[in-house]
Amino acid sequence: MNKVYETEIISVGTELLLGHITNTDARDVSELLSKIGVNVRYHSVVGDNPERLAACVEIAKSRADVIITTGGLGPTCDDLTKQVLAKAFHLPLVEDAAEMEGLYEYIKGGRKYTPNNFSQALLPQGCTVFHNLWGTAPGCAFEAEGKIVLMLPGPPNECVPMFRTYGIPYLRKLSEEQIVSHSLRIFGMGESAVDDLFAEEMNAMRNPSMAPYAKECDCLLQVTAKAESEAEAEAMMAPVMREVREKLGDLVYGMDIESIEESVLPLMKERGLTFAAAESCTGGEVAKRFTDLPGASQVFLGGCVTYTNEAKTRLLGIDPALIEAHSAVSEEVVRVMAERVRALTGADLGLGVTGLAGPDGDGIHEVGTVFVSLAAPEKTYVRALRLGAFRTRSFVRRMAGNHLYDMMRRWLCRLPVEEISR
Ligand code: ATP
Ligand code: MG
Repeated sequence: MNKVYETEIISVGTELLLGHITNTDARDVSELLSKIGVNVRYHSVVGDNPERLAACVEIAKSRADVIITTGGLGPTCDDLTKQVLAKAFHLPLVEDAAEMEGLYEYIKGGRKYTPNNFSQALLPQGCTVFHNLWGTAPGCAFEAEGKIVLMLPGPPNECVPMFRTYGIPYLRKLSEEQIVSHSLRIFGMGESAVDDLFAEEMNAMRNPSMAPYAKECDCLLQVTAKAESEAEAEAMMAPVMREVREKLGDLVYGMDIESIEESVLPLMKERGLTFAAAESCTGGEVAKRFTDLPGASQVFLGGCVTYTNEAKTRLLGIDPALIEAHSAVSEEVVRVMAERVRALTGADLGLGVTGLAGPDGDGIHEVGTVFVSLAAPEKTYVRALRLGAFRTRSFVRRMAGNHLYDMMRRWLCRLPVEEISR
């Protein structure tokens, strides 16, 4: 956008103030806005109270160009967002014929309704209606008094797709410039090391620009360009992306994806390969993460969670003497876990993970000691990890999973598998 739009998100809901729910709407809308280069300056949260919401809107009017509300669009008496916003901008609420029609259709389908359902079809005069394909309460956008206002429903499975489908294109249309952004996901080098590696370039860059961000167990480089067209912005970014990939090499596991397992799925599919997992300290998280991906069934066969020594023996047939000799948290045991689950399921690859997620130790190893293993047809690979005694259980688990998927990715790309990072 050529004009810098300062944006405020107002999330409406007493549940948010009581701490019953987390404000994921503001987070997700902000993330989407950052990708089109819109500056979010404020997040406000206010309860389902018309006076306080009206006061909030006045503050937002005084300091923002774009005001986005989430929540309070439903039919119940605590849903007041439209009424308050329309009043704040001196717009009457009028019945929207198409939305009214939609409600009749809905009722004809035999759904339950109450007369207040129809209040959902009342929208600020002259607004652009965002028809809700994911729920019933419509959202909308209007421009008044020099401000741009967008209203989105509260449930995240409505708010986010509605903003993506209608909100982003609406805001993009206001601008003569196109902003395009890509994130390069990196595993095996921390945010500060990445920052250090590119510090000079990043300081000198204006358009495109580049910034590193830390995620819980990996990091990313966000590259953003502004131009008259998307194609032009892409072309401006291409040499930057090339240079980053040259410098970071195989540490970059993907672009515009959320997790390392997402990079593994297509590689496995392409080669028609399958895998299985035997998990101890991750408690099934490795399997869960993969099965969250659509299409996982073509690749992931199954596995087992063998948390105790006994389960390792009973389910995987691991010799108790091996566990006795080396302890369950050992290179020797993880190797057999991966090999056994591979053999038992008939998968092409077997994964094994065992370690101490903490906070209590086992008297032998430091908390955060984890062994991960990949059993491939030609060889079984192992990484011994020291993830840090001060880490949380969730961090240790997630990191262990990342290492496993990193080993798979590197094996699939014919890269050294056991090498941890640079
Ligand atoms: P509905 O038609 O479902 O009533 P609504 O637009 O009126 O939608 P609210 O009543 O404010 O939305 O919230 C409905 C539900 O959506 C809440 O109970 C909560 O679970 C979820 N929700 C609301 N606001 C947020 C938010 N900011 N972040 C995450 N979840 C939210
Ligand atoms: Mg509601």
